[in-house]
Amino acid sequence: MALTGGKNQGDVSAMLAQAGRIIKDGGLVAFPTETVYGLGGDALNMESSRKIYEAKGRPSDNPLIVHIADMEHFEKIVSKVPEKARKLAEAFWPGPLTMIMEKAPIVPYRTTGGLDTVAVRMPGHPIALAFIKEAGGYVAAPSANLSGKPSPTTAKYVIQDMDGRIDMILDADSGETIGIESTIVDLTGETPMILRPGFITREMISAVVGKTDIDAAVFDDASKQPPKAPGMKYRHYAPQGELVIVEGEPGKVASYINAQTAAHARNGERTGVIGTSEMIEKYRADSIKDAGSRSDIVSAGSRIYTFLREFDDEQIDFIYSESFESTGVGQAIMNRLLKAAGHRCVQV
Ligand code: AMP
Ligand code: MG
Repeated sequence: MALTGGKNQGDVSAMLAQAGRIIKDGGLVAFPTETVYGLGGDALNMESSRKIYEAKGRPSDNPLIVHIADMEHFEKIVSKVPEKARKLAEAFWPGPLTMIMEKAPIVPYRTTGGLDTVAVRMPGHPIALAFIKEAGGYVAAPSANLSGKPSPTTAKYVIQDMDGRIDMILDADSGETIGIESTIVDLTGETPMILRPGFITREMISAVVGKTDIDAAVFDDASKQPPKAPGMKYRHYAPQGELVIVEGEPGKVASYINAQTAAHARNGERTGVIGTSEMIEKYRADSIKDAGSRSDIVSAGSRIYTFLREFDDEQIDFIYSESFESTGVGQAIMNRLLKAAGHRCVQV
């Protein structure tokens, strides 16, 4: 695998050209986006999609998102672009919004996990857009992690999971990633339906296209509700340690967590805590992660996956996290935390 990190413009152009050739030849390239790193292959080549599933160890009924860089390409892979999709594209693309629509025949079922619909996104990262153009315009890409692990927010974690499994990594850590995956909205029905919350919130979507629903499976335990985004049914984003979310008045949350970490310490188990800046001094654990101020929820979101990966690096056995408000972007953070925690949540 070639690891690239060219600094001057000539290097970057050569890297992008090489990456584009690899995709056209049916290979796989990991690339940065403004959300998390993607694991890309030619979306119109079923053999490339097969390789993506294999590299990730991902179940083949879990469809891939097709990334485009040009509005003309949008029309080619969707049988009919609904008016609401056009408006949302105008408002939020390039950006962290994925839309589900009826697929055109050129999109192979391997890419859509056997579905007649296709998920499409135009990412906002300049390297991603340039790479997609070099690659021919249609790059199928899930997050560049092994199935079930937290999505990678830096090239380091892509290498950890994908070394030896893919042909190239475009390394462009900027430190400014959103850090959680795109919002997914289904536009096949009359009312748009959010299947996965993200940085583009329900409020933002409904301001453009009116009434918008959220799939009930987003917050319920997946075992109780069949989710409409097949990927949401799998245990996801999980660290090796056992994660528990603790909800309640901040002082009580800290007392509860400290009692738990003390008990684990007596058993020789290693503990971690994710807390907000306002409370962080109160915690006692082997590894304490500051998610930033409660008033800056976006910054908390951008750090969650990195924390979960770091806890793995630090061999943490038990992790306790504060909970976040389930509105706006907080909804996306809570959705990912609940999944990572396998819905283990205590009220104190
Ligand atoms: P990832 O690529 O890891 O961000 O996961 C992509 C997510 O998009 C998965 O949860 C999929 O289930 C979802 N997805 C992709 N295509 C479709 C589709 N056609 N219908 C519903 N969900 C989809
Ligand atoms: Mg993923």
